[in-house]
Amino acid sequence: MPECIFCEDGDLPADTEECPDCCRKPFSGMYFDKEQYARAKALEEAGNVIDAWELLHEEFRSHGDRDHFDDPMVDELETKLHELFLRHSSLAERRLVVYEERMSMERFWGHFASERTLKEGMKSMIRIEREDLAEELIYIHHGINAQGTYPRLEGPDENDVKSYMALVKNEMKEE
Ligand SMILES: [Zn+2]
Repeated sequence: MPECIFCEDGDLPADTEECPDCCRKPFSGMYFDKEQYARAKALEEAGNVIDAWELLHEEFRSHGDRDHFDDPMVDELETKLHELFLRHSSLAERRLVVYEERMSMERFWGHFASERTLKEGMKSMIRIEREDLAEELIYIHHGINAQGTYPRLEGPDENDVKSYMALVKNEMKEE
């Protein structure tokens, strides 16, 4: 039986509209209006690429809110944002912001920003010839992981930018 994604109260009937424990709509996507995708598509087709991005990004942020975190919706919205970025490389700097937000979420929920996300982001930027942004991601990743009181984590820092760029590019050749 499904459980509430917010308070993890289990064994709710599948047609539950309101969680008896936290009084929220309990399942992933129940706070999302699917029409938003049609709206974003219409904006993109009309040439308002930035408005389309902003609309989806706003949804990404609200579903990624720490108190109302909806994991599957966050993933789905990031995929939509990524696809939009792949069609319009002019969105590169905005895409960078979303990688940063994703790494902050990883830090919050899992104690560190992953190198998987870092490398994925770097490769996306290298593919569109934005090595400057790929390098910036190394600094962002290091900055996020250097916060707080946890023991210093492994991962590249400002001294490793050149060698780490080379490592990631090498990986791309093998993919
Ligand atoms: Zn609940």
